[in-house]
Amino acid sequence: MNSNDVYRQNEMSAWHNAVSKITVLLEDGELSTKYLAIADNVDKLLQLTYPNRPMEWFANHYVERLKEIGLANVHGHVRQVEFRRAFLNYYGEPFLEVMQSSVSEREDNWLQAIVRKHRKTFHPLRHLLLAQFLDMSLDDLFTREPVNQPFGASPWLCLNPAADHYLQPVVKELSIGYDNKKKSPIGTFTCSCGFVYTRKGPDTNEDDKYRIGRIKTLGAVWEQKLCELLQENLSLREIARRLHVDVNTVKKYADVVQQSLIQASSPISDDLRERQRQAWIELVKQNGHKSRTELRRMNKALYTWLYRNDKSWLMEHSPRPKKVIATKSRVDWRRRDEEILSLVQTEVTRILTSDGKPERISISRIGKRIGCLSLLEKHLSKMPQTKSYLESVRETVEDFQIRRIKWAMQEIEFEGQDLQWWRIVRKAGIRGEVVYRLRERFDNDTPPPTVGV
Ligand SMILES: [Zn+2]
Repeated sequence: MNSNDVYRQNEMSAWHNAVSKITVLLEDGELSTKYLAIADNVDKLLQLTYPNRPMEWFANHYVERLKEIGLANVHGHVRQVEFRRAFLNYYGEPFLEVMQSSVSEREDNWLQAIVRKHRKTFHPLRHLLLAQFLDMSLDDLFTREPVNQPFGASPWLCLNPAADHYLQPVVKELSIGYDNKKKSPIGTFTCSCGFVYTRKGPDTNEDDKYRIGRIKTLGAVWEQKLCELLQENLSLREIARRLHVDVNTVKKYADVVQQSLIQASSPISDDLRERQRQAWIELVKQNGHKSRTELRRMNKALYTWLYRNDKSWLMEHSPRPKKVIATKSRVDWRRRDEEILSLVQTEVTRILTSDGKPERISISRIGKRIGCLSLLEKHLSKMPQTKSYLESVRETVEDFQIRRIKWAMQEIEFEGQDLQWWRIVRKAGIRGEVVYRLRERFDNDTPPPTVGV
């Protein structure tokens, strides 16, 4: 037997070895789908003519895609450990071994090198393995420019309902940051009208470009519009509806706007203020037994001036209002019910649409958030609309756990990890006996795809 034969024999047995290993592996349905997709791409590479691309081209593509799925930061720094883990998780070590593309720690890590702007070449199979993991088609890889635009191209939409150019593509200023916790790009859009909003990216469908994560600045145009609407004597709720914000925001800005109007129209000298204060103190002293309302009637101009320009001082230096016993009859509960209902609804929507870790919808949380806790605790029965709404949305502990699980699933999918029950439960922060009960309820509630153990 000459050396050539020995070589061939070794080669043959390595081949048979690989074939028998892969045959076993491909009994796994998921893996065999992945394998077929790769075989399909090999075929395409051989059949079609793709343009020649410089080596950085591919590395750029990979890094941009890794940014999108949160495995690289906005500067293109790849989170190598997580990247390797996710990749390994996707194919499994035995499969990668058969493909001679193991990424186990002891091996020379090709995966780490292939996403660098390398001068080294890699076997096409490794490119195919990676492209598939990144869910990139060969057409994308070869023909699309590797640029990262998580929010699409400029200009972007102005989402300021107060501006004439509302929903027009006029925003040219976008800065992209990176949320380490959520592992996603955050865009800050600044419009010439002064409106600044942020949104978590990347945009994944057409509707996303109409989405505001958070308003950072409402701006002069918005405030001007608010002034106009206030002068039209519309209700705060109607104004809120027109300006696409909640009632609390309108309230807050209405105060600010009015305050600044007063200040702009008449800068007050300290001297004048002091004289007015003295005059009020005199009035209070001379009429010690009188209420604030009575004092106001006695010198309306003085009271109004102080109320507008020095309100907190005025309140501190006025007789405290006497407790009115007949409060009950004066409260218009129907109206209050409507107002509170609107606040509660806004708050519930905010909780349910928040991107962050879910919060439980409970009366005490909502009450605290809208600053009406004791009202909700003591007088809910007088506000039937609010009451029935709250009853319809409040969550039991278990409802809330289920919502946390759904949230955790989304996060995990977003991170590109496999949906496994232990991982979901850990992410959702649920412990103890309840986990088993939840699993049952969850499987009953949720249609497939079912979750791995
Ligand atoms: Zn604008």
